[in-house]
Amino acid sequence: MVKETIRVYARLKPLGRRQQAGIYSVDDDEKSVSSLEIIVPHDLADGFVNNKREKYKFKFQKIFDQEAKQDVVFDSIARPVAECALAGYNGTIFAYGQTGSGKTFTITGGAERYSDRGIIPRTLSYIFDQLQKDNSKMYTTHVSYLEIYNECGYDLLDPRHEASRLEDLPKVTIMEDPDQNIHLKNLSLQQANNEEEALNLLFLGDTNRMIAETPMNQASTRSHCIFTIHISSKEPGSATIRRSKLHLVDLAGSERVAKTGVGGHLLTEAKYINLSLHYLEQESISTCRFAQRVALIKNEAVLNEEVDPRLMVVQLQKEIQELKDELALVTGKQRTSELSQEELLQLDKLIETFLEDNDPESTLDVGADMRKIKYCFSHVKQLMNHSKISDKKTVSQHISEEKDTNKEAGKEELKKLKELLQQRDNEINILVNMLKKEKKKTQDALFQLNVASAGSTALEQSLSINLEEKWSPSNCFSLKEAKDLSSSVNRLPFLSRQTGGKMSLGCQEAFEVFKWDHADSVTIEDNKQLLKQRFAEAKCLGEKINEVRNKINHLKGELTQRHIQRVVLAVSNPSEELNTLDPVEEKLRTQIEEEKKSYKTMFNRLKGLKVEIEHLQLLMEKAKVKLQKDFEVWWSEESTNLQVCQEKTELVRSLNSTTVYPQFIKSSQPLPTNSFSETTRASSNEDTSGKNNSNNFNSSTSKTRTSPSSNTPIPLTGDSQIDADILAFIKARQNILQKKGLGNK
Ligand code: ADP
Ligand code: MG
Repeated sequence: MVKETIRVYARLKPLGRRQQAGIYSVDDDEKSVSSLEIIVPHDLADGFVNNKREKYKFKFQKIFDQEAKQDVVFDSIARPVAECALAGYNGTIFAYGQTGSGKTFTITGGAERYSDRGIIPRTLSYIFDQLQKDNSKMYTTHVSYLEIYNECGYDLLDPRHEASRLEDLPKVTIMEDPDQNIHLKNLSLQQANNEEEALNLLFLGDTNRMIAETPMNQASTRSHCIFTIHISSKEPGSATIRRSKLHLVDLAGSERVAKTGVGGHLLTEAKYINLSLHYLEQESISTCRFAQRVALIKNEAVLNEEVDPRLMVVQLQKEIQELKDELALVTGKQRTSELSQEELLQLDKLIETFLEDNDPESTLDVGADMRKIKYCFSHVKQLMNHSKISDKKTVSQHISEEKDTNKEAGKEELKKLKELLQQRDNEINILVNMLKKEKKKTQDALFQLNVASAGSTALEQSLSINLEEKWSPSNCFSLKEAKDLSSSVNRLPFLSRQTGGKMSLGCQEAFEVFKWDHADSVTIEDNKQLLKQRFAEAKCLGEKINEVRNKINHLKGELTQRHIQRVVLAVSNPSEELNTLDPVEEKLRTQIEEEKKSYKTMFNRLKGLKVEIEHLQLLMEKAKVKLQKDFEVWWSEESTNLQVCQEKTELVRSLNSTTVYPQFIKSSQPLPTNSFSETTRASSNEDTSGKNNSNNFNSSTSKTRTSPSSNTPIPLTGDSQIDADILAFIKARQNILQKKGLGNK
């Protein structure tokens, strides 16, 4: 049992562009602890009478300053915990801090660069790497991903559910037993056999979480997320299983944790309040205070070992069967648990002959078969009992001398019989032990053989990696392919609800504009280029590896040839020494060794590339989902605005049906009902702020409608949904153009 306090680290987030630097200093001088001093100048505080402390000093295991990179954070914090998890101890890493302080960045990672991978993907990579290296145990790995929101648990990994709201995800019940152990009912454990599968699951969970979150309900800032890696290991042939869990936790924003009583609306409102720098700093201070309290907690780590009774039974049954088989092999006879009728009759005869034989040297030989030996005992017992009864009956008829002689003889026989049986018992025991020893030897030999062959198999497998199939460029995300994106957008719940799964033309076009305008498009494009580059690199490396392998095979062939030649020479010419070093052979061997070295280096690089490529693909997929999600939010906002304005116009018109507003309509023609002109008026009416949002819609007086930028007529379809889409799009594009400074003046 290991007793240790919780280790607490601090990470300082780099300053944003518009953020003002806080005043702090980091002191790394002391051994094994660092301290962080935060200075709050008096003039920044409340403004009135201010008696607050100015300096706050906190101690941490280690402090990661602004420029600390993700790999350093992983090496210091997560690697030791992952090592313990591999050894069978449970571990937890949790990130605590206010919203926006970098918890998700630290735990999961940034969505832009491969180097921004956080603790979860790096831990998965490390664990699977270690498992692959260890041939002495059999490992099974599962992952689970739980979100806790408003004291309710949700399973983020259930593949049967496509979530469009958090409530659609399977509910997980959180229960506490009398020993204060927490049990999670209904949380699915998904098996992950390798890093790729585990990363895919992480991605699935993150995506589910993102889709389930609505802009009005920013669950991610108010929920805890727990990604757990479950490892179980077992040595071959053993019934002892080691199980460990590694929890990687992204906690809710600390402003939330601290005020659990605050309702959801309050927090959302609070988020929109422009908090002063001072206020934010005070928050940082309470986070540090919490950290100091956590650092006092002592944990007792225990090794999670258990013997699986089912496995034990199965194992014993197997052992019995094996022993039976081996016994049958030695005796040459197959055994069932019961003796056959024929065998019983045979035994009866043997016992009878034995009992009747007066020769003191006579033996009862039934062979090394416990069933027969046992039968003999019980049969003799029966005979004994029977003779006892008949003895009693005839006792008066026999003279006492004769009786004594008989008894003596019986006792003598019985003693002999007992000795004989004891001898047989010993023989059987020796035999069984011998068999056990032989079996163990065979097992050891087999194990050695497996270990020896495992190395070469891994190398061979690597060569069969089919790069073309696995990382074909068609799997890469192409930003230009609107079709691809549009088809993905069809998956969006709001679209399937509103348009029966189809994306209208207007919506598609708006998506195109939105996509190009989106902040992430540069990142996506960059990653795409990087992915292409990595893919080409991997392909090239794969070809090189194949070349080297061919070369090695060729050299091996040459070596064998050379050796055969020498053997032949030695046979035909006995003066030739086969044991002397052949320089040609030596050279070939050195060459092979060198090629193997370069093979190994290239193979490791390829392995790294594979992981990087897979991660980049996931990042791009994530960016894609985010883009769709952002578009969905933006689109529905635009539609709602438009609808509100339309209603307003309708209201004005009904209140004063005879008034004609010249700023809206230049023509004296009567207003067509449900026509584009109405919408046009709505758009203008909406702009009460004085900004020049009015545009050449105003000149549109006829029944044909004019696109804001191109003056091309847009025919309405008569389908209210599609028309609404088209109008929403025009409005949206106008907004974008105006933002870019291209709007019509
Ligand atoms: P939280 O999960 O605590 O609310 P996030 O992890 O989402 O905060 O971080 C907020 C923003 O700051 C994100 O855009 C994230 O990429 C960025 N960020 C956080 N920490 C770092 C860091 N160490 N380096 C660069 N960017 C960071
Ligand atoms: Mg977060």
